[in-house]
Amino acid sequence: MKIIEEVKEAKTIGISGHIRPDGDCVGSVMSLYLYLKKELPDVRVDVYLEQPAEIFGCIKDINEIHTDFETDMVYDVFFTLDCNTDRLGGAQPLFERAGKKINIDHHISNTGCGDVNIIEPERSSTCELLYELLDVSKLDEEIAKALYIGIIHDCGVFQYSNTSPRTFQIAAELIKFGFDFSKLIDETFYEKTYVQSQIMGRALLESIRFMEGKCIVSMVDRKTMDFYHVGPKDLDGIVNQLRIIKGVECAIFMYEVGTLEYKVSMRSCGEVDVAAIAVKFGGGGHVRAAGCTMNGTYHDNINNLSKQIEEQLLS
Ligand code: AMP
Ligand code: MN
Repeated sequence: MKIIEEVKEAKTIGISGHIRPDGDCVGSVMSLYLYLKKELPDVRVDVYLEQPAEIFGCIKDINEIHTDFETDMVYDVFFTLDCNTDRLGGAQPLFERAGKKINIDHHISNTGCGDVNIIEPERSSTCELLYELLDVSKLDEEIAKALYIGIIHDCGVFQYSNTSPRTFQIAAELIKFGFDFSKLIDETFYEKTYVQSQIMGRALLESIRFMEGKCIVSMVDRKTMDFYHVGPKDLDGIVNQLRIIKGVECAIFMYEVGTLEYKVSMRSCGEVDVAAIAVKFGGGGHVRAAGCTMNGTYHDNINNLSKQIEEQLLS
């Protein structure tokens, strides 16, 4: 399938991705936006997303994103990238009432919510998958950069096991466009502000290991977030740091989003299927990286999650 074939008749096209957009979500949404705008100058193309983190300010036209979803537009075609409808947030009604719905994703938990579904869980990222659906001869430096950002964010700069030979081949093609990929990796992936580093330090310090050190959990509450003046976007990377601790098979990190409500991130080294656990609690993701939102006290949530992990490790 080629994207351009799917939108041949369209006069209006909408694009969106998931709530709390990460690098792959922002990268895929923006690269498709830049591509369609360039290829179809007579078509109205709009992109809807929650405000992306400042690090993505290097992506061309990022300020053209609509962060207000209040509109009665009915699009001829609407793309949902990097998620299923349940994580579209404010853009969900826009997708539901569109003439033709297209869903492109790499999450194993996504069963497809469009009229056209391209779901490939073996892909490192939605950006990698999207690259295959675009006409490569029509890419430019800005589109390539947005795609590259998505790929490096979802495969941890080619470190995670979702990286395949094809991921490297595509990355090789993308860096030929000449953007400064080394700077991009530093500035969008590794660099942390001072407070982001401080709060990560605290989360590591207060982490607790259980199941003989095979599992580790940590949490940041609202009070602490307020004290450091940080938001959810500042907590990225904490769960990955927990996972690479020697002996750890499964890492859990949560932060308080409301009264008795926590956003949970889970990472596994491969023995535990965290996507299966996340799905049980209404979330989803990948075998080695998944998330969900849980209600209840911190300790109840740990108990519920550890029961599931234990079941898997003992089976
Ligand atoms: P996180 O650690 O929450 O950023 O998520 C890890 C992976 O799981 C990412 O690929 C997310 O897109 C996915 N994920 C997180 N939360 C959910 C959810 N509620 N439903 C489906 N996928 C999720
Ligand atoms: Mn992704």
